[in-house]
Amino acid sequence: TKERGKGDFYIFTPDMLEKASKSLRLQHDLYQALSNNEFELFYQPKVNAKSEKICGAEALIRWNHPTLGMLYPDDFIYLAEESGLIVRIGEWVYQEACKQVKKWKEAGKEIFKVSINFSTLQFLQKDLVGRIASFLDESGIEGKWLEVEITESILIQNDQELVDKIEGLKKLGVQIALDDFGKGYSSLDYLRKFNFSTLKLDKDFIKDIHTNRESEDITSFIIALGKRLNINIVAEGVECEEQAQKLKKLECNELQGFLFSKPVSVSEFEKLL
Ligand code: C2E
Ligand code: CA
Ligand code: CA
Ligand code: CA
Repeated sequence: TKERGKGDFYIFTPDMLEKASKSLRLQHDLYQALSNNEFELFYQPKVNAKSEKICGAEALIRWNHPTLGMLYPDDFIYLAEESGLIVRIGEWVYQEACKQVKKWKEAGKEIFKVSINFSTLQFLQKDLVGRIASFLDESGIEGKWLEVEITESILIQNDQELVDKIEGLKKLGVQIALDDFGKGYSSLDYLRKFNFSTLKLDKDFIKDIHTNRESEDITSFIIALGKRLNINIVAEGVECEEQAQKLKKLECNELQGFLFSKPVSVSEFEKLL
């Protein structure tokens, strides 16, 4: 491309064009990804803060792109949302997670809760609750071994149908976690309305919890609140021992982060068990 001279005016810079064409290409490839079986769930352990034993796992999607290699959710989830494919991808995710729990159960592994991430748009799936119910049934997995992590962006819409779906999942025994708590619009009102099983403290707080008094105080407050409301508190993004020590002192229930393990493939995860 031509050097950009002084006074030139571009609506699209070459860089923007490149990004846009990459998005277009990914958007196109995404349509085949499901049928080509290119998605994979990685698992990251959550550990009990006291014993540091694995007490759960979060499933995080990866896309093994045929030419670009492994892609992360931030590279493609927004595209899947734009095209509506997220509904089918989301369905693949909960089916895959249930199958995995079933496999671990059959292999006689000590069973633990698996958490999956839900996009707001997935709640548009017709009969979402019924479909999850039949999948749990098929895998012979009790609802309590599945947890759905949602963010406040879902709740902000204040849509009754959506609230009914969340309640429907809860009736199946599926646990509901509020992800990224403390970030963005966090409203205490949601805690009153929804009766979550888990709050996940956003990693932005955890990042400087050992060096910043405000972060520590806010975290301490949220943990105390969780205790009062009988909600399990998970800290995400725990990267160093100092952070873990602080969180233990504050009596946080569960820890998750690179300090314990990054998200890994099923076979790597099984080595941790
Ligand atoms: P999230 O749910 O907040 O997930 C946590 C992200 O932090 C993950 O990134 C994880 O790999 C990363 N992480 C874990 N431990 C640490 C740590 O110690 N330090 C730091 N800096 N990061 C850590 P990932 O896997 O790239 O996922 C990004 C986001 O994509 C997730 O954020 C979630 O919102 C979304 N996502 C992932 N899987 C799915 C899925 O199956 N469906 C949908 N709809 N969204 C998904
Ligand atoms: Ca999450
Ligand atoms: Ca999170
Ligand atoms: Ca996040």
